[in-house]
Amino acid sequence: AIPLVVAINTSLAARNGILVRDRIAMERARELDTVIFDKTGTLTEGEQGVVDAATAGDLSGDEAFALAAAVEGDSEHMIAEAVREAAAERGVEPRSAAEFEALKGRGVRATVDGESVYVGGPNLLSHLDSDVPPELAEFAERAGENARTVVYLIREGEPVAAFALADVVREESYRVVEAFHELGIEVAMLTGDSEDVARAVADELGIDTVFAEVLPEDKDETVRELQSEGTLVAMVGDGVNDAPALTRADVGIAIGSGTDVAVQSADIVLVRNNPLDVVRFVKLSGASYRKMR
Ligand code: ADP
Ligand code: MG
Repeated sequence: AIPLVVAINTSLAARNGILVRDRIAMERARELDTVIFDKTGTLTEGEQGVVDAATAGDLSGDEAFALAAAVEGDSEHMIAEAVREAAAERGVEPRSAAEFEALKGRGVRATVDGESVYVGGPNLLSHLDSDVPPELAEFAERAGENARTVVYLIREGEPVAAFALADVVREESYRVVEAFHELGIEVAMLTGDSEDVARAVADELGIDTVFAEVLPEDKDETVRELQSEGTLVAMVGDGVNDAPALTRADVGIAIGSGTDVAVQSADIVLVRNNPLDVVRFVKLSGASYRKMR
């Protein structure tokens, strides 16, 4: 009788836009302790725009955008798109750049006029061992308090400009956290973004635990650490950088328009781009549990 109930529930799931790639994972989901959500593009819209910028020294705003847009010229990251768009809106032509390089979870690098120029977040700063000048540090602190992602323009090893990007928390995310708490399941957030931004979004949503500034290659390690404490973990994500964590989790859930790699690493695929479907899925797995008893 058990397989029959599971079959009924997987087809019920399918009708709700929930594709079950691994039935065992669906059964496991009824005993979840913690659900970890990727932040950008999962709990937030992931549609970022540059809302503010600051420069240090004698670099002008236009020069900063011209350089940053050049270095971001080859990147498909949504931060790159936002920077290029902001430069275009200012009527600024990107400088010409070559030797583009992506530093996963950190930022990008390119050569402009024979100089190595970087754009990236806090993970890049620590990677390059760069110190932020006071005027940019102040800018970043204010931006962080407002849950804005900050990336820096780095020339000759020195941060010379900073850009603040705004993202919007998805309307559904509030109810997601609430619903899991009602089910007695903890909610955590895992992100490559800065501690400030992660904290601000987590506080806004009432999320218990935050793992911030985590590099893509370390995301699965975070899951593993929780598991080693005996916690049954679901991971929800959309990006290539979430794939190892999706594989590692007891229940890996790829969301919506997620990248192919994320989808292939997941046990469960949510067809719609709606985090509330994670709640629906967990409730469905719980329903099959009750029927089986
Ligand atoms: P997330 O875990 O939030 O999905 P990523 O792993 O894609 O984020 O990126 C983590 C951080 O690395 C970003 O918040 C940003 O600071 C930096 N970063 C990554 N790619 C870029 C880029 N193309 N331009 C600037 N910064 C970037
Ligand atoms: Mg993401």
